[in-house]
Amino acid sequence: MVGEVWRIGDIKITRIVEIEATGGMTRIIPDATRERVMGIRWLMPHFADGEGRMRGAIHALLVETPDLAIVVDTCVGNDKQRAVPAWNMLQTAFLDDLAAAGCAREDVDRVFCTHLHIDHVGWNTMWVDGKWVPTFPNARYLMGAKEFEYWRDNARDGQADVMADSVLPIHAAGLADLIEQDAEICPGVTLIPSPGHTPGHASVFLESAGESALITGDFLHHPVQMAHPEWSSAPDVDRPQAIATRKSMYNRFADGPTLIIGTHFATPTAGFLKRDGDAWRLDV
Ligand SMILES: [Zn+2]
Repeated sequence: MVGEVWRIGDIKITRIVEIEATGGMTRIIPDATRERVMGIRWLMPHFADGEGRMRGAIHALLVETPDLAIVVDTCVGNDKQRAVPAWNMLQTAFLDDLAAAGCAREDVDRVFCTHLHIDHVGWNTMWVDGKWVPTFPNARYLMGAKEFEYWRDNARDGQADVMADSVLPIHAAGLADLIEQDAEICPGVTLIPSPGHTPGHASVFLESAGESALITGDFLHHPVQMAHPEWSSAPDVDRPQAIATRKSMYNRFADGPTLIIGTHFATPTAGFLKRDGDAWRLDV
């Protein structure tokens, strides 16, 4: 499904939705029980339902600058054997949706993965004639050097499968560029290091004609972590670092003009970060 479109100066951002669902996020943020979520009323109706079930999404963001078409994060992907039943052997119209948004897969110039987890690298590759081939044949795939080296050396079980079917084939095809955690992808598109969820995690800062936006990646998974930055995400590799990153990013962007686009936020997906007592909230 093609979701929201935002414009930041001369940059257009289009949300390509792979999955949007209610109820699955408690597995990711175990502290966010339904009872506790019920007490955070500003999450409703967009980010939680009336019974405290959190809503979440998996989507890619097509970032079109005057010069480049960049896909930020590539979801779970089709045809991949995964342990999570809802993600196993997925079949969605993702590439058709991307084309409907005006960008055929051959038109993509850059792919950037905020980190190398299962739901951020899937469409890096597609299954063709019995093997995994790069989905975006004319793109350079940008990955954090630190992030790649960490998972190259530490991936086990499901993460090893993810590397094997969605990351290493890109390197084998000669399409990968390893970049610094604070690299500039192109004018107006710059990375901000946001480690903790994974060691090399980076968020994407967009700036054009006096306007700005932040693509979070997974330094938080759900707006509930604005109210409670200390609530860890189960897959956070370094929890104290992830908490420190959330607080420092919130302090940096709260009450400012930057549109916050959440990588796993349900529709409407974006809003403005506000201070809320000792914590924060998202205004949409
Ligand atoms: Zn994720």
